[in-house]
Amino acid sequence: ANKPKVVILGAGYAGMMTTKRLTQKFGTEEVEITLVNKHNYHYQTTWLHEVAAGTIEPNRSRIMISDVIDTKRVNLVHDTVVEIKKDEQRVVLENDELEYDYLVIALGFEKATFGIPGMEENAFSIESFDKSRLICEHIEYQFSRYKNEEGNDHLLTIVVGGAGFTGIEFVGELAERVPELCKKYDIDKRNVRIINIEAAPSILPGFDEELADYARKSLEFRDVEFKLGTMIKECKADRVIVGDDEEEIKTGTIVWTGGVQANSIVGNSGFELTKGRVTVDSDLRAPGHENIFILGDCSWVMDEENGRPYPPTAQLAMQEADTCANNIAALLYGGQLEDFVFDHKGTVASLGGKHAMGTVFDDKKLYGVTAKAMKNVIDDRYLFLLGGPRLVLRKGKFRPF
Ligand code: FAD
Repeated sequence: ANKPKVVILGAGYAGMMTTKRLTQKFGTEEVEITLVNKHNYHYQTTWLHEVAAGTIEPNRSRIMISDVIDTKRVNLVHDTVVEIKKDEQRVVLENDELEYDYLVIALGFEKATFGIPGMEENAFSIESFDKSRLICEHIEYQFSRYKNEEGNDHLLTIVVGGAGFTGIEFVGELAERVPELCKKYDIDKRNVRIINIEAAPSILPGFDEELADYARKSLEFRDVEFKLGTMIKECKADRVIVGDDEEEIKTGTIVWTGGVQANSIVGNSGFELTKGRVTVDSDLRAPGHENIFILGDCSWVMDEENGRPYPPTAQLAMQEADTCANNIAALLYGGQLEDFVFDHKGTVASLGGKHAMGTVFDDKKLYGVTAKAMKNVIDDRYLFLLGGPRLVLRKGKFRPF
């Protein structure tokens, strides 16, 4: 009756994999596992740029949680976390409250707009399944308005703020989607503009230069325009104001991908943030809290080799889940807690359609269809870890392109 209570907040990569690992590690009689999520489904955050552009059927990117998590072993709570009362070991939900002995915070990211005027109110962001689907619907609506309204060329301009991983993957998908929309709404493709605006002088900071150049050329070849070294100064409902000369660009759609931070619940619950996230100890616990783990996009994990945190990715979040589950077991049974060690398996960015680039296995560079095939393998590997071959067959991307 008095089993220790482990509560996991958020069913993204980190939360799902931690739950899965805990069910593999413990018997029903040993611990009570509760997984809380805003929705009864898990969505693939790494596919949301495809949902937002409309290049994937949205339902392919989500999975009912109960399809992959054993509900006889785990209490699934479909509710929204409001606050973590860490001093009382309680979590406040919209409709309930939960007590915990061990807590895993895996609530993901939200957009950071750095106080750019109007960005919060006027820009979309690729932040969740619902918000991504809205972007897709909005773009299509702007295209459908175009022929019905005079003097509205700007409806066909899509501005994407930020040339990091998400911004670049998204414009790649848009480059594929635009010709389809033009066909559907009888629009001359030359009237459409996809503009990526980035404050840094080059795209994909942190990426290998040769790969970033390849990506840029591939996207420019498909008519994506870049404004690099250009700050967005202000964002209004139908325009952005950019650069030192305050150029105005009229647009029908603005999508901000230029910054993310931990889910604000973390900061609001009194955890100390550095640059928007909690820097966790090497065993993934929140400093000063021996029963709280913070995983995925809510935290920074230091790479001891170069003294900088690892960039938060799905790959990192999933590997953290293993260490977290092992460390919960160590806390329960008195073993030694392990330090997290990241095994970087490479990074591949899709650039729309059959285009992609990236590195795998000790920095081997891949381009084009080979990279795209590898991207699909990476996506399918996650599905396999989560739900075995059955899930790969249902939701996988096993075709080369
Ligand atoms: P998430 O996967 O975002 O999950 C958070 C979960 O918490 C969600 O299910 C959400 O519904 C839930 N939640 C949020 N708030 C609440 C609340 N208040 N109450 C209850 N539940 C809540 N990484 C890679 O490694 N490779 C890639 O190719 C890659 N591509 C990307 C492409 C895009 C478009 C984006 C946006 C990101 C990409 N990333 C990629 C980064 C990767 O998606 C994130 O690092 C990863 O999703 C972090 O996992 P997480 O478990 O921390 O959060």
